[in-house]
Amino acid sequence: MNKLLGFSVMSVLALTACTTNVDTESAEQPWIVDRFDDIKVIRYEVPGFESLPLQEKEMIYYLAEAAKCGRDILFDQNFKYNLAVRRTLETIYTASEVREGDEFKAFEKYLKKVWFANGIHHHYSNDKFTPEFSEAWFREQLAAYINDENRQIEDDFLCQIIFDAELYASRLNQTAGVDVITSSSNNYYEGVTQAEVEAFYAGMIAADEGNPEPISYGLNSKLMRDENGKIVEKVWKIGGMYSPAIEKIVYWLEKAAAVANPTQREVLEALIKYYNTGDLKDFDTYNVLWVKDTESNVDVVNGFIEDYGDPLGRKASWESVVNFRDEEACHRTEIMAANAQWFEDNAPINPAYRKAEVKGVSAKVITVAMLGGDCYPATAIGINLPNADWIRKEHGSKSVTIDNITYAYDKAAQGNGFAEEFVLREEDRERMRLYGKYSDDLHTDLHECLGHGSGQLAPGTKGNELRTYSSTLEEARADLFALYYLGDPKLIELGLIPTLDVAWAQYSKYIMNGLQTQLSRIEPGKNVEESHMRNRKLIAEWCYIKGKKHNVIEIVEKDGKHYVVVNDFERLRELFGELLYEVQRIKSEGDYEACKELIESYAVKINPEFHNEVIARNKALNIEPYGGFVNPEYELVTNEAGEVVDVKITYPANYVEQHLYYGKEYSFLPTLN
Ligand code: ZN
Repeated sequence: MNKLLGFSVMSVLALTACTTNVDTESAEQPWIVDRFDDIKVIRYEVPGFESLPLQEKEMIYYLAEAAKCGRDILFDQNFKYNLAVRRTLETIYTASEVREGDEFKAFEKYLKKVWFANGIHHHYSNDKFTPEFSEAWFREQLAAYINDENRQIEDDFLCQIIFDAELYASRLNQTAGVDVITSSSNNYYEGVTQAEVEAFYAGMIAADEGNPEPISYGLNSKLMRDENGKIVEKVWKIGGMYSPAIEKIVYWLEKAAAVANPTQREVLEALIKYYNTGDLKDFDTYNVLWVKDTESNVDVVNGFIEDYGDPLGRKASWESVVNFRDEEACHRTEIMAANAQWFEDNAPINPAYRKAEVKGVSAKVITVAMLGGDCYPATAIGINLPNADWIRKEHGSKSVTIDNITYAYDKAAQGNGFAEEFVLREEDRERMRLYGKYSDDLHTDLHECLGHGSGQLAPGTKGNELRTYSSTLEEARADLFALYYLGDPKLIELGLIPTLDVAWAQYSKYIMNGLQTQLSRIEPGKNVEESHMRNRKLIAEWCYIKGKKHNVIEIVEKDGKHYVVVNDFERLRELFGELLYEVQRIKSEGDYEACKELIESYAVKINPEFHNEVIARNKALNIEPYGGFVNPEYELVTNEAGEVVDVKITYPANYVEQHLYYGKEYSFLPTLN
């Protein structure tokens, strides 16, 4: 035990030391490469790439190309006219002769926002953003630079799309009581109502009744009417919708398969087959192979994966993450995976809803080499896949923490004055300074590696009962699992933390974020909509209310400012356990009414005064609430015979140039699909 403890103290210290080192190095090249509106763009490094074997470097190169080829798909999925808007703006931006003045600057800012959001709706709030340049000025640009040849859609309609705030106002409307399909302007559905969509898929699911390997119906298609008015799926595959982009993706996947090891070749060939057939059974086959490959160093997520963009949680956006293993950091997730059954058996949930046998939890820490689609420019810091419940149960899941991305975030945030502004007590600040980044990493590991994979459904529960509330509840379940275990002395015993102060650092941060600081990302007067944000508010608010009697969490007022302070960490941990018990029960039983009640009561509404205060304080610090990234570039180095002898990595740190380059070289879809 002592030895293990020694290891963990060292790893925490090493982390702190390493942080200090890189700080001095980065003085030459800033981590933040662009800032506009509520966004900062950060560069990330790919440590260890140079020392990979040639075969792995080459594979990363091909997979990275594939990752860039799906960019247009996401634009089109987010909104039917996004490609038309982007292409018109890029044409004007590139051709424009007068590159200064307020109107042009506002135009440039708008274009940067469109690139960042992969469309005209904010990537996080899902609301349409309106430009700060005038329609008159824009029409002058249209007249000057847009002719019949490069016109994407009719000028008047384009202006309506850009300037009319009421038209296509939200990409994803989850307001209770409205038709979430007709009031959302994503491109997953067209000409159908929520009732029609629900009936369409209820029919498919009923026909599949009793299948132990249920199909994720609707995942890879748009639902719309054919020429006869019949409701049909337009499938995203070669020969189907988005074919020109998918053909390019497959071209590069084939190149990657040719240099892959035998296991990975089989996985990639299964993915290629699925892109050809569009058959969701083939997608499951691919996922089963993918989840079993835990040995290969290089790995990739590539496909229609996450359903956050669909108010009914059925259609998946296209994304790709190319990565390789971070050997040293993997040690901590290996410890978690090896003890997965212990965590499951001791979870504070109804024993009936614990997994009797936890299968194949594989967890690793990775270094990202390329981000694409819905993971670019904004990306998650952890991934747990596949999403199909039956595959997770029968074959397990793969869980990763992205270390070079969290590292870049951490670097970009240093010295920004945030802790001084929002953390009241010096002792809490000190704990966060010492253990903040490490506790974030551990929290992500526990969330991804154990949280999402834990628990099981009651017999008869299908898993789709919670409808629009399902992603919030699922994120809350994984977060609560992570928070509860972060404060468990077992983690000291396992050598994962040197002291429970690591957990307390996370508890203070998490509650402060959930109750207060994350609200700076939301516009005044708006509700909390995004599921990860809802989840954090749900947990923090619930614990605040339930712990009020014992003053577990306190909102302290000092000099006219409010501070969120955790007074009793041990009791807070018990509250996490109590809420996890209920959240797991809701998921296991598919209790829609209880789920709705819980989320609507704690996770959605914001006190306006409290909200305005946090926005003002955050604004005074000049901290952008959202971050995203520029990708590195890779280049094949060949000898005279044309053989690949190396792959060179470079770090272009210009946000505008990267997007213009992608728009020119990786745009394969027609304007309307
Ligand atoms: Zn999650």
